[in-house]
Amino acid sequence: MTQIEKAQGTDFIRTIISADIQTNKNNGRVATRFPPEPNGYLHIGHAKSICLNFGIAADFQGTCNLRFDDTNPSKEEMEYVESIQEDVRWLGFNWQDRLYYASNYFEKLYDFAIQLIQKGKAYVCSLGPDEIRAYRGTLTEPGKNSPFRDRTIEENLDLFQRMRAGEFPEGAHVLRAKIDMASPNLTLRDPALYRIRHMHHHRTGDKWCIYPMYDFAHCLSDSIEGITHSICTLEFENNRPLYDWILDQLEVPCHPQQIEFARLNLTHTVLSKRKLIQLVEQGRVSGWSDPRMPTLSGLRRRGYSPEAIRNFCERIGVAKRDSVVDMALLEHCLREDLNRTAPRVMAVLKPLKVVIENYPENQVELFDFPNHPEDPSQGTRPVPFSRELYIEQEDFMENPPKKFFRLGPGREVRLRYAYFITCREVIKDPESGTIIELRCTYDPATRGGDPPDGRKVKATLHWVSAAHAIQAEVRLYDHLLTVETEKVQEETDQDMNHTETADFTTKLNPHSLETLSSCRVEPYLAQVRPGERFQFERLGYFCADSQDFTPARPVFNRTVTLRDTWAKMQTKG
Ligand code: ATP
Ligand code: MG
Repeated sequence: MTQIEKAQGTDFIRTIISADIQTNKNNGRVATRFPPEPNGYLHIGHAKSICLNFGIAADFQGTCNLRFDDTNPSKEEMEYVESIQEDVRWLGFNWQDRLYYASNYFEKLYDFAIQLIQKGKAYVCSLGPDEIRAYRGTLTEPGKNSPFRDRTIEENLDLFQRMRAGEFPEGAHVLRAKIDMASPNLTLRDPALYRIRHMHHHRTGDKWCIYPMYDFAHCLSDSIEGITHSICTLEFENNRPLYDWILDQLEVPCHPQQIEFARLNLTHTVLSKRKLIQLVEQGRVSGWSDPRMPTLSGLRRRGYSPEAIRNFCERIGVAKRDSVVDMALLEHCLREDLNRTAPRVMAVLKPLKVVIENYPENQVELFDFPNHPEDPSQGTRPVPFSRELYIEQEDFMENPPKKFFRLGPGREVRLRYAYFITCREVIKDPESGTIIELRCTYDPATRGGDPPDGRKVKATLHWVSAAHAIQAEVRLYDHLLTVETEKVQEETDQDMNHTETADFTTKLNPHSLETLSSCRVEPYLAQVRPGERFQFERLGYFCADSQDFTPARPVFNRTVTLRDTWAKMQTKG
């Protein structure tokens, strides 16, 4: 099977493209683009679109452009332009020399607007924004023609040129397409194509004071770049007739086909830039790269691998109907990858001191631990063992209930890869009564963790040597939202009419971050690089924080726990 044949049945978009190749549409060429607006950082929803567009280009030996849709001067910044490129590269995709900006086409777009006016297909309307809205009508009532709809071509050309020259204040005029005020599709009721904005643009500076609207700029940018398949999310379905109308009126290099797919929604988080900006601006998170954010930079800092995200995007597939994907699936894909790749190490989050009374005072043994039990190629590392150790507070109970199999008074357990120990005495703080130390003994015959007599213990605990362990900060992350979905309001109108939804910040999880500052980790973990990922045995996957980690003050993020709720749901269901 060729790669194209394989791709053909993957999803409905690839099926369409395969058919186009067979009929030699576009001379068999496939060109897609990923067109982010640089008004925020990319999130996991964008990853779906990136994987789709770049993936299709790869499957069909085509090309995929990265195009900044930077037509809105009020919200765009260089910081976003840079972070978007970094994130696409990190995900594993390469636009080669095809980095474009819609703002590079401003002159061409202006010429297209002039052409439309000359054909009598666009006019300058001088109604105010409120009047334009009132004239537009509703879903059940047709709109009314603007009193300026029948301006002569000459008058329109003159006004539009003077709009560009900066003669008018914002809101005085807009350029509108002359289509049909009675169309059942509201987007066709003489939509605005250009508006006045006396604003600085991050790339064109003060050269322009009129800016094209999304619907006008997008289809023409696609056409200028020779895009064959313009893939976007479902909320643009109603805009497709306008996309086609504009291209049909003009002498354009090509007419791309717009295809819509369902955007990704995920449980327990928000995937709207507007809401993510709100979290950043209100200081509810530490920034766009806060490990709780569903942004690609947040997921990266949290410890996600690009492989895990790409696998996730492949598994969720591409459909025509909106749905909400369970966060547990994303985490499942992450565990699959980390289980294979992450070295195992030992760390104790809430330390409880253990003194092994029969172990010689100044003795230190270096055990050689496998870095990955199933992958010997990952090698081994030395781990020191001595008389004083730390184990997890949770692994000891003074009065253990029936189902607690770990350490208790008089009980024997295995210390991972080391020895069996038995608890002999519990030392408490005389004032508070809290347990501060366990006195234990070890059985030298169990060295390596297996006794020659074959006797069994019910638990294996992780541990670190007290004298050698390094103090570390560990940040435990949990879902951003306490609820599965915060009902997302579709934002079909990109520029106005943002209907206010109930404030989603009331659903933020107050326990989404727990910081533990007196953890103890094995000495090896002081030498790792920021961003490196590990499995802390029995605790989960963690990574060295890419911003705050230093050998003197190691900081680790919990990437994900070991408990796979997705796998569980699959076996139950
Ligand atoms: P948001 O709704 O988060 O503000 P947006 O659609 O305004 O996002 P753009 O920068 O315009 O963000 O998006 C770039 C591309 O990514 C578009 O083609 C858009 O359709 C796609 N995209 C955005 N969000 C998602 C998502 N949740 N799932 C899939 N694709 C998405
Ligand atoms: Mg958008």
